[in-house]
Amino acid sequence: MKRFATICLLAWCCSCTQYDLIIKNGLIHDGSGAAPFQADVAILDGKIAKIGSSLSSKEAVLIDAKGQVVCPGFIDVHAHLEPLALYPDAKSHIMQGVTSAVGGPDGGSPLPIGAYLDSLRTMGIGLNVGYLIGHNTVRNHVMGLVDRKPTDDELVEMKSLIQTSMKEGALGISTGLKYLPGTFAETAEIVALSKVASSQHGVYTSHLREEGLGLLSSVREAIQIANQASIRVILTHHKAIGEPMWGASHQTLALVDSARSKGLDIRIDQYPYTASHTGISVVIPPWSLEGGRFTRFSERAADPILRDSIKKGIIHNLINDRGGNDLRRVQFAKIDWKPEYAGKTLHDLVIDEMGEPTIENGAEMVIRIQEHRGANCIYHVIDPDDVKNIMAHPMTMIASDGRLTQYGKGHPHPRAYGTFPRVLGKYVREEQVITLPEAIRKMTSLPAESLQLDSRGRLTEGYHADITIFDPKEISDEATFQEPHQYPSGISYVIINGHVIVEGKTFHDIRKGTILKMRN
Ligand SMILES: [Zn+2]
Repeated sequence: MKRFATICLLAWCCSCTQYDLIIKNGLIHDGSGAAPFQADVAILDGKIAKIGSSLSSKEAVLIDAKGQVVCPGFIDVHAHLEPLALYPDAKSHIMQGVTSAVGGPDGGSPLPIGAYLDSLRTMGIGLNVGYLIGHNTVRNHVMGLVDRKPTDDELVEMKSLIQTSMKEGALGISTGLKYLPGTFAETAEIVALSKVASSQHGVYTSHLREEGLGLLSSVREAIQIANQASIRVILTHHKAIGEPMWGASHQTLALVDSARSKGLDIRIDQYPYTASHTGISVVIPPWSLEGGRFTRFSERAADPILRDSIKKGIIHNLINDRGGNDLRRVQFAKIDWKPEYAGKTLHDLVIDEMGEPTIENGAEMVIRIQEHRGANCIYHVIDPDDVKNIMAHPMTMIASDGRLTQYGKGHPHPRAYGTFPRVLGKYVREEQVITLPEAIRKMTSLPAESLQLDSRGRLTEGYHADITIFDPKEISDEATFQEPHQYPSGISYVIINGHVIVEGKTFHDIRKGTILKMRN
């Protein structure tokens, strides 16, 4: 009799199981890199409740995913979320299948992080976000833009800010050693601060000191920091910049493999493009920017002898680094001084203003641009074979380095709209650089594990229901360097914490994102 009662209870439970949403008939890529399988996915209360066959529930919303890939939502470990308060819907990111993104990259972050996270909770945000605490932000807060070592007291204060930030929810520390004031920091300073992040299980994401001629020594520096601070390290937006360094990814990956074989936890992230995007000051010698990127710079540039030294440094960079030895390789994304040049190149501007498009004239024009509060530029100086070589490495994640963007505003790098679909279309389907399960792993479980995120990055029962559904035959990026404001095609649904945000071309601005947490 007792046995009979148990069976009845089970039968009763099965017949009345309630789900909020069921995705039927999809091809499940669980994010682990394993072979896909056919199954239904049921969601309840924002979590993946059941993965199985013939799932049903009276009240559930049904999505038919026949012929489509159902996978974990993409996790972008290098995102420029700075405009999140302006664009809290985060549409440019979510439309490419991203459900979680990490801000505070390249050494720049909110401070204090805890208060900022509170403000996001109050405001309501479209996708899940986490933050790294930025070394440049902390150093600037404590020391300003000075070119010297910190005093003992200053180092203690910086460590304390990192410690507090980690306690308030930061996922780790980021540096931008190419930028001010991080470029003035010695390795020992980064080791000391990374130890604090490591003690709270945080990661260290490194925008390397150099990505051009100094690339190899910069990779070695990051590995040294991993070793001395006992911290997981991500070489972020990994690439080899400038013609003299093309092909150097073979050496950098060998350095990574060698370090990993010694037990150091070195990882990589990458955007799938042959151009970078950053301020024009990246080609200006850092000493000339010390103390103030615009005012102090302009004072120095007014001195003919200093101006000549600055120009020499810029000429060196235009030839060997982000100039690519051709002014046509430097494309303006945003130039407040001459907004009509957005989308055009340094070559165009030099011809119009100075005549001959020589490197020397290009350097003079860079100084004038900086005197007029700078510009953001797209630098077409990465070799396609390096992009593929880095992508194929098993520890490489896909990350956009893209800035949240409002449709039609400015001239962003196309990665802001197309990063993840571009990998799935161009590099998986068309060029077969990596397989589809591997590409999805690089966008989901690998970043989740690298950041030690709690219950995200896999399609597994009990995990948060962040899910992207796409047609593997159709998915592609549409954004180009000429026409960046284009959403990708082939993405059918994006689900965040169990809520349908994208349905084909329709975007529901319902702000169901949350703050990412590390697992305990
Ligand atoms: Zn960045």
